[in-house]
Amino acid sequence: MPRTQLAALDRPHAKEAPDLMLSCAKARELQSESRGGTVSLWQRAGLWLHMRLCPPCAHTDKSLCATLSLLRELRDRDGKQPRS
Ligand SMILES: [Zn+2]
Repeated sequence: MPRTQLAALDRPHAKEAPDLMLSCAKARELQSESRGGTVSLWQRAGLWLHMRLCPPCAHTDKSLCATLSLLRELRDRDGKQPRS
């Protein structure tokens, strides 16, 4: 029996409730996608859970947030200054 079929037997509700524990690679992919608002509710829940269980990814998320807010701040500040 193919592996995918076995996995489906293990988790009969997988279709309605996909596995919430994401891999780090998937979590990081979703981190950037979620900033564009394109992730589903399940993906968001999985990401939230992953951030609470995986310190390295939580750290990456915090750094990314800090960098983005700094960039926004610089952009806003730049916009307010008269250009020479
Ligand atoms: Zn992780």
